[in-house]
Amino acid sequence: MWRRLRPYVRDLVGDVLYASHLTRPERAARGLLSVVTFHRVLPPEYFEAYPLREIAVTTDEFEWFVAFFARHYTILTLPEAYRRWNAYERTARPLLAITFDDGQIDNQRYACPILERAGVRGSFYVPVDAIEDDGTLWHDRLAYAADGLLKKEPSTARAMFAEIGVTNDPDDHATLLAAVERAKSLPTEARLAFVARMESALGGAARPEWDGMMSWAQLRAMADAGHEIGSHSMSHQILPLLDDEALTHEVATSRSVLEEKLDRPIETFCYPNGDYDARTLERVRAAGYRLGVTTKWGPNGDDADPYELTRVDVQGQHARTHDGEMSEPRMTWRMSRYFSGPN
Ligand SMILES: [Zn+2]
Repeated sequence: MWRRLRPYVRDLVGDVLYASHLTRPERAARGLLSVVTFHRVLPPEYFEAYPLREIAVTTDEFEWFVAFFARHYTILTLPEAYRRWNAYERTARPLLAITFDDGQIDNQRYACPILERAGVRGSFYVPVDAIEDDGTLWHDRLAYAADGLLKKEPSTARAMFAEIGVTNDPDDHATLLAAVERAKSLPTEARLAFVARMESALGGAARPEWDGMMSWAQLRAMADAGHEIGSHSMSHQILPLLDDEALTHEVATSRSVLEEKLDRPIETFCYPNGDYDARTLERVRAAGYRLGVTTKWGPNGDDADPYELTRVDVQGQHARTHDGEMSEPRMTWRMSRYFSGPN
């Protein structure tokens, strides 16, 4: 009974909170610095074809989100929003930064035009090696290969998943997600070897034509248009697992390469997979960054550490009601300090 009623109750609570003005950002986010996270912004046909839809929104959804943010917040790049927030500037509409992780081509192709039409700018955090050689990050390689193999040779795919301890998930999509999650905890070499074996079982890498990374020329044009470009490391490794030399390379070298390629100061570091420790923080400070963004959840209050800024990840389903409509009351609740955590 409760399972069936839950979405209705949730929508009703959202509506009541909204009607009472309690969750409206002008009030619920007053004095806070809100930072939202996106990865992929895809037209419907690519969204359907992309196997990790949990980190994607459609272009229509993104347009809705940008209009929603623009109604309720003052949208700036992260360094600019942080500067004003840290100087205790309290705008009538609270400060918000729209950030993007991973540097894929859809950011430039689909997200930028929507942002620019709304007159706002975003912050884009890119992994340098993949930009340099139009590479594919391991989670995308694994997801595309797993998706292809599950369709082509499901029993081979299942046997390979079982090798890394992924069994008995209810459907293909759940299996694929569990495999990506499980692979995160494998040592780097074992993880990449598994990805490569899955690709060769399929008969080669499976990234579709339309996918890929942004180029240096595109990033430079975006920076010239007022967007922020920041570092998402060299090769998107899990930083606390690295030795000192490799850690310095990921953190400091990525900053100097970006500064040289884009000819401007790089201010923000974005921790791959949200993983960092005291040693990582020390390196990020020493490398000259001013800000660090995590995957910890929620808006930032007065006690926020500039190197451990929290964010709110955004998916279409977070804003939809039980009947699938994008809902302003639901989204304001999720963005507010009254929401207790993800999902
Ligand atoms: Zn990432």
